[in-house]
Amino acid sequence: MRTPIIAGNWKMNKNPQETQEFLEAIKGKLPESGVEAIIGAPAIDLNALTWFSKDEPLKTAAENCYFEDAGAFTGETSPKALSDMGLDYVIIGHSERRQYFGETDEDINKKAHAILKNNMLPIICCGETLEQREAGKAEEWVTGQIENAVKGISADDLAKSVIAYEPIWAIGTGKTATADQAQEMVHVIREKIASLYDADTADKVRILYGGSVKPANVKELMSKEDIDGGLVGGASMDPESFLALVNFQ
Ligand code: PGA
Repeated sequence: MRTPIIAGNWKMNKNPQETQEFLEAIKGKLPESGVEAIIGAPAIDLNALTWFSKDEPLKTAAENCYFEDAGAFTGETSPKALSDMGLDYVIIGHSERRQYFGETDEDINKKAHAILKNNMLPIICCGETLEQREAGKAEEWVTGQIENAVKGISADDLAKSVIAYEPIWAIGTGKTATADQAQEMVHVIREKIASLYDADTADKVRILYGGSVKPANVKELMSKEDIDGGLVGGASMDPESFLALVNFQ
């Protein structure tokens, strides 16, 4: 059985003060079991998150990192430093990073290796544009992104990792993929993992849907066989909304 995940992705929102306020509002209110609650936050907010997570059932995620542990890379964040700080996950390959910061499949693969080497887990994002979907190319594109991202990763490591399917046309647009559309692609991704690895690995890897997930639609999405959770942007930033999402069951 795969433990469901609700992962917030705050993107470039909230300063350390606002992060403290959010954490005070959810303190003592997260479910102790049955779901893994994760917050992905800007680097400047991660210290507060990791301290909070020592006493509360919250896992923590960075939204990016570099693939070297240290060195002359001005402005980058070290995966080793994130791991030393107590981070659990790093989100990689988000469409905003691909689109605005030129992150390539090759970078994403290098980052995945660096994250795993540092005893954290990657949340590997993938997803097609509206044009690709309309041209009937979505499956080929998304499975290609996954194949490139996981190159050289062992079956054991991949089984513990997380994949997030986020159709670009559904991110921040209020236009959620239907639960059936989301299930269909998440199933295709699981089949791809089975063909690249084996049925056992495909059965273990957790695959999330992302794109306008909110308290009103989370239950239906989560009812689908292959969907193990949500990667949530806008609706993860308000404490009440985040608590509603993690208590979807
Ligand atoms: P959204 O963002 O929930 O605001 O659509 C999702 C994401 O980009 O991870």
